[in-house]
Amino acid sequence: MNSLLLTGGRVVDPASHFDSIADVLLLDGKVSAVGKNLAAPAGVETFDARGKVVAPGLIDLHVHLREPGQTAKETIATGTAAAARGGFTSIVCMPNTAPAIDNAGTVALIRERAKIEGAVNVFVTGAISKGLDGEELSPIGGLKKAGVIAITDDGHCVQNNDLMRRACEYAKMFGLPVMDHCQDYSLVTDGVMHEGYWNVALGLRGWPAAGEEMIVARNILLAELTGARIHCQHLSAAGSVDRIREARKRGVLISGEACPHHFTLTDAAVAGSEKFWAEDGRQLFRIPRSAAPAPSWPAYDTHFKMNPPLRSAADREAILAGLADGTIEILASDHAPHCDYEKEVEFDYAPFGITGLETELALSLMQLVHSKRLSLTDLIAKYTLNPARLLNLNKGTLGVGADADVTVFDPDQEWVFQREDSASKSRNTPFFGWQLKGRAVATVVAGQIVRTERRDLMAV
Ligand SMILES: [Zn+2]
Repeated sequence: MNSLLLTGGRVVDPASHFDSIADVLLLDGKVSAVGKNLAAPAGVETFDARGKVVAPGLIDLHVHLREPGQTAKETIATGTAAAARGGFTSIVCMPNTAPAIDNAGTVALIRERAKIEGAVNVFVTGAISKGLDGEELSPIGGLKKAGVIAITDDGHCVQNNDLMRRACEYAKMFGLPVMDHCQDYSLVTDGVMHEGYWNVALGLRGWPAAGEEMIVARNILLAELTGARIHCQHLSAAGSVDRIREARKRGVLISGEACPHHFTLTDAAVAGSEKFWAEDGRQLFRIPRSAAPAPSWPAYDTHFKMNPPLRSAADREAILAGLADGTIEILASDHAPHCDYEKEVEFDYAPFGITGLETELALSLMQLVHSKRLSLTDLIAKYTLNPARLLNLNKGTLGVGADADVTVFDPDQEWVFQREDSASKSRNTPFFGWQLKGRAVATVVAGQIVRTERRDLMAV
């Protein structure tokens, strides 16, 4: 059952610098062979991958599964079904659940449920501070023992620099990377969108780019001071990219991730589709949009509200440049489901966040590979080898003996993302109606193709 032969695809495995038309044989949940003209042993199913890319199973290290405690938004079952639909074989869930993942019991609960309900592999992060309140450290050693692969207060940001320093020292002792949502509360206060031209024009409170850059700079200093590995989550600002580029040149153990919405959209989108397409959206994608009308949305649409916020066109360009030159080595979605009724309120009152697992591969291909900013190998590395390396996961490669997690995708398939396409329990994405290019066609976990049809019913 855990065996499969994938034939004739373009196999791209950044870990072994392999890029060639080949077959991949998966036996008993492990990669058994990669090569030409492999024969399927008796009883082993064959999958025709001709014309498709066969990559190591994609990893998304920034996902909010909302279980336990907020299962009206998402569950482990629906969140992992959405991951499979998007081509992801492994996801890393954030600790801002209710209760927060700040104790071994909650870690065990999630790992147990993921084993039973999960369509894909689920890795768990633990909170830096108890209850994510930034006051008192979580039992980091106990969390590590319970199986967390990193610590973060994502959704929140530890403001006390001494507490963050202690967290880094413990994390280093236990071999855990520290991931951080970079937001200086005193600068950001109650900002709801990027501080620039549009927040003034729209009369919304600003969230300045410096509020992110300040904490990125703090993290660079603490990485140097403690020797801990610090990963800055969902980078949005040009200044953050510059600081990380400079620090990495000096060998500081600092890294960053970027999300498709930050390198696709800008703050002009909050002013409505007309303003966006007339300005920052004009030359977005180099695929013909003639087949479908350009998507439209009103001003103050809360599906364009996330944290950190959509920023200026110059920031978007800086994120793309950081991805192209390797400063930002990881791509992730920050999949953050919310119920319709929560988003259908005034911009000020809506929660931050959008879903992203099902659109991130297409948007990354479009903005990075189809636009010729990045090679296909480098893009795949940012979803496989690089996150696996950061988190010490035994994943992200098609080397013989590796776990049989594989993503097969068609980089050129054009499709329009529709509401009914989503396996997530929530529908808070700005990308419905968008013509996309690139789509996963098979998600293989432990040698088995994941079917998500039945899970759709569960999602409704
Ligand atoms: Zn965050």
